[in-house]
Amino acid sequence: MGIVPLRIHCNTYTEFLGCYWHGHLCLPNTGCDLQRERLAKTRLRLQYTLELGYDLEVMWECEWRKRIRADGDVGRFVKIFEEV
Ligand SMILES: [Zn+2]
Repeated sequence: MGIVPLRIHCNTYTEFLGCYWHGHLCLPNTGCDLQRERLAKTRLRLQYTLELGYDLEVMWECEWRKRIRADGDVGRFVKIFEEV
C-alpha cells in the first residue's frame, strides 16, 4: 500500500493520499468493489493511527490540486519544482 507520510511532528501525523490508490469518493467511477475496498482499507489504517494516539491530518490529492489552483503562493511554490 502506498503510504506517503508528509511529516511526523510531535504528536501530529500528516498523510498525503492519492485519490485513485485510496479509493476517494471524488472519482467518477465511485461505487466499484475495488474502489470501496481501497477506501475501507485506508479508513481502517487512518483509524488505527488515531487509536495509537496521534493527531491526524489528511491531505487528499484532489484537495491538494484545488489548493494549488486557488492559492497563488502554493501554485508558485509547486511550479518551482516542476521547472527543476
Ligand atoms: Zn479525491
